[in-house]
Amino acid sequence: MSVASSSTQAPPPSLSSYSKHGQELVKGMSFGQKIDGPNTEFLKAAIMDFPRPDNLVLPDGSKVTDFPLLELGGAKRSGVPLVVSFASIGSKHVTIVLPRDVEKQECIDDDFMNRVTLPGPATLPPGDATCSICMDDFEDDPPLCLKKCETKHYWHKECLKNWLNTKLTCPNCKIQIGKLIGRQPPNGSMRYQLHQGQIAGAKEGTTGKSYYSASFQFPQGKDDDGTPYFGRSETGYLQNTGEGRILLELFKVAFKRCIMFGLGINMTHQVYKPTFNIHLKTNTYPSGAQCHGYPDEDYFLRTMESLQENGVTIEDLYR
Ligand SMILES: [Zn+2]
Ligand SMILES: [Zn+2]
Repeated sequence: MSVASSSTQAPPPSLSSYSKHGQELVKGMSFGQKIDGPNTEFLKAAIMDFPRPDNLVLPDGSKVTDFPLLELGGAKRSGVPLVVSFASIGSKHVTIVLPRDVEKQECIDDDFMNRVTLPGPATLPPGDATCSICMDDFEDDPPLCLKKCETKHYWHKECLKNWLNTKLTCPNCKIQIGKLIGRQPPNGSMRYQLHQGQIAGAKEGTTGKSYYSASFQFPQGKDDDGTPYFGRSETGYLQNTGEGRILLELFKVAFKRCIMFGLGINMTHQVYKPTFNIHLKTNTYPSGAQCHGYPDEDYFLRTMESLQENGVTIEDLYR
């Protein structure tokens, strides 16, 4: 069934239908090898528009059909499926093992500073004539600002570098700068796999009925202070839709950065063990948002937000 060609049915969920986050979700999106050069740019621009057209003529003259199904692998260019670089499907399970695959804390060196900062203007706006960390003026020291801040603030390079060494945020607007590494136990595994079938209560995928499981396992261990904690195993389920695949990709990043889980005391049992930091849907029967299951209309956006609070965004898939 092609949802895109049906006029009686609501359009399939697509990235661009999330007006709240649409711009952020598709920024930096990249595609596989089958499209390149000006076509990639053209497609990116077309994705930014809402509503998305069913068909599209590319700058090279070729035609894309079923364009709304791009993220789901259903769009075709001159009859050949277009490849999107994330959201690959495989029937075999894949395992990420810690500490082998753990991402390292970012090193705040000159290379990092060059990546995240911009030089300030020759004449600073009134009110920005002093460094907002040490309150001194700049004299011969060129002021720097952070690329990510919407409203620019200016600091001495050394002041900003020292600040970022302790906190990976903007000193003024608190925006996240660089990778955040969490308190999840550094030993464990994440294993994910595609299955046939439908999660009860979840939105049906447009590429057929299939879903992902993502299983997390942590053996018992000791934290940095030597306090022993219990092990834990949990499995989360994601429907094989555009949203589900994006969440799976971001869960992989979150797991490697040790922010998928935390370490804390379970209130009911007073047991010290890995705790949820990013929420998982652990139920496959229709149990709703209150019981870790589907349906839950807001799960995607809520989870994207909590990932973002932990420094993981869709841009991390294209670094
Ligand atoms: Zn300063
Ligand atoms: Zn800022």
